Amino acid sequence: MSVALISAALHLATAKAGIPDRYAGKLVTFHPKGFKQKVVALTFDDGPDPKITPKVLDTLKKFNAKATFFVIGRNVVTYPKMLERIQSEGHEIGNHSYTHPSKPPEAKGEWEVRQTQNAIDKVIGSGLKLYRPPYGITNNASTRAAKRMGYVVVNWTNDTNDWKKGVDVYKTGTADMRPGEILLMHATSGKERTAAALPKIMEAFVKKGYRFVTMTEMLSLYDEFEKSMPKGSTTTGDQGFGSKPKSRTKPKVRKAKPKPNSNPDTTPGPRPVGASSSSSAGAKKPPPQN
Ligand SMILES: [Zn+2]
Repeated sequence: MSVALISAALHLATAKAGIPDRYAGKLVTFHPKGFKQKVVALTFDDGPDPKITPKVLDTLKKFNAKATFFVIGRNVVTYPKMLERIQSEGHEIGNHSYTHPSKPPEAKGEWEVRQTQNAIDKVIGSGLKLYRPPYGITNNASTRAAKRMGYVVVNWTNDTNDWKKGVDVYKTGTADMRPGEILLMHATSGKERTAAALPKIMEAFVKKGYRFVTMTEMLSLYDEFEKSMPKGSTTTGDQGFGSKPKSRTKPKVRKAKPKPNSNPDTTPGPRPVGASSSSSAGAKKPPPQN
């Protein structure tokens, strides 16, 4: 084996070893501008549960695909076996708070993250430092705590809106198929439509030549891409991928208005210009109260 090959192999091994350091304590929520690899990260929030999570897992198995599950701590405590199954089938597990609050009190922010991590660690050994804020809210106590604790805060680049009444999850799930997509879905009770639409959504991605990756792999690919770009031409962190930084030294936190409601996840507020050419994941109306 040549030195170059060994070096390439080592590089690959390192890339697969974990989440690249550059994302620790940062928010990832946009496609990297110019990213061309046809990969999609399917992400499932709010589980584990005994009804929908197994259906989602069965579908992923059929496609031989790996995904990322952002689990709620108290659900992990209730359904530890399901968490074990998620892990044993090769998927990644991220932290989605313990009680899914939109605006936890400052003193409870860190508890939400830590308590969930403890619950995950107790069942599967140790968890990844991946955090997805409930409702995608990035300016609350838990998200701040997660960043302080070195978590990568991951939102999404396309929301299937599978929590909304009357939404065709297949349509929303395939509305924004672009390289580097992070797709938001839910794997919890009441999300039968999501489980039913998933095979069709995955089929559509396969037909377009996409490969399914976990968040760690996606972040590794983003990282490789960033490294290949001229210095300063891409950005990571709080300003998000793909949006041009005004200043690299003063990261700007995206403001999101927390609005308590019964919907699982949504990002209130508009998406910065340049992050997306599609309106499907772009400027969103605040979620309805129900
Ligand atoms: Zn959620």
